[in-house]
Amino acid sequence: MDWIRDHTIGHGSTAAVFIAKSRFSDEVFAVKSVELSQSQILQKEQKILSELSSLYIVSYKGYDVTKEKEKLMFNLMMEYMPDGTLSDEILKQGGRMNEPLIRYYTKQIVQGLEYLHSRSIAHCDIKGQNILVGKTGAKIADFGCARWIDPAERDSGTVPIGGTPMFMAPEVARGEEQGCPADIWGLGCTIIEMATGGSPWNNVTNAASLLYKIAFSGQSPEIPKFLSLQAKDFLNKCLRRDSKERWTAKQLLKHPFLEESNSNSTKIQDFVTSSPTSILDRDIWNSIEESETMDSTLLQTVSSPLQRLKELSSNSGELNWRWNDDHRWITVR
Ligand code: ATP
Repeated sequence: MDWIRDHTIGHGSTAAVFIAKSRFSDEVFAVKSVELSQSQILQKEQKILSELSSLYIVSYKGYDVTKEKEKLMFNLMMEYMPDGTLSDEILKQGGRMNEPLIRYYTKQIVQGLEYLHSRSIAHCDIKGQNILVGKTGAKIADFGCARWIDPAERDSGTVPIGGTPMFMAPEVARGEEQGCPADIWGLGCTIIEMATGGSPWNNVTNAASLLYKIAFSGQSPEIPKFLSLQAKDFLNKCLRRDSKERWTAKQLLKHPFLEESNSNSTKIQDFVTSSPTSILDRDIWNSIEESETMDSTLLQTVSSPLQRLKELSSNSGELNWRWNDDHRWITVR
């Protein structure tokens, strides 16, 4: 495909994302680019995305390698999602979403997860920032941490963990395994993000204590009290600490919280708040602002996950625990 790169529309820990136009048609799409020499993660993402085709997953449009300013660039082309991320959408809604809107987006995310999991793929980094919004609602994006679930690989312990600490399931934080149930935990955290505009965990002062809390405290994120009983029950099924007790995407699609809605035939405009209300709980997001140097005692206490994350950092660039410039958590690989 012959195309022209336009302005940047986003950037994450691995790549920059641009809007692009075809030279021969009016087609507009998104291009995620990184230097070829550093493109292992993007190439893996390309392999996974190229096998997927679902209304609830951002569509794949191809890849190529270009030479720009003497540098070779690896480019992954995909559908352009004009309304940004689900986290952006929460802000547009005044900092939190009403329950019908939460249900609307949740159903689409679960449909996307059901599709992925039925193909033995775990996304491994479900969070508001990795769900993109467009005319038809939400689609799952950013497959940089995704993996085919292979029990042999898992048993050998060679598959590194990845993801965003704030959204990590207990078994992932402990470094035990990362599969489909961890995506369901991430979904639960994302629902809390939609409901409160805040993070799933409060009163955590640094990344090491956050991981420790997730891994070993026995607690799950607090379920917002103002949600309906059905929504609370749904969240409870997503946020079970024992991954075997967590509901699957297929089961969740039959949960009354989603079943009662006919959300696929409902237009998004039916739920969208036209004028922003208040920005609640923003301080929660801001409660863990700075990267912390790993304290050696804590490192020993939670040695397994932290050691893994440290190893990851030496394998794939700097370990970054910090908010990015948009004050959001970023992915650790
Ligand atoms: P992360 O650090 O979360 O792994 P990343 O480097 O893998 O990030 P993405 O999350 O895929 O990059 O993209 C970064 C940002 O670019 C997104 O948060 C979003 O704002 C924007 N973006 C990505 N893909 C698209 C798309 N298809 N359409 C519109 N915007 C997009």
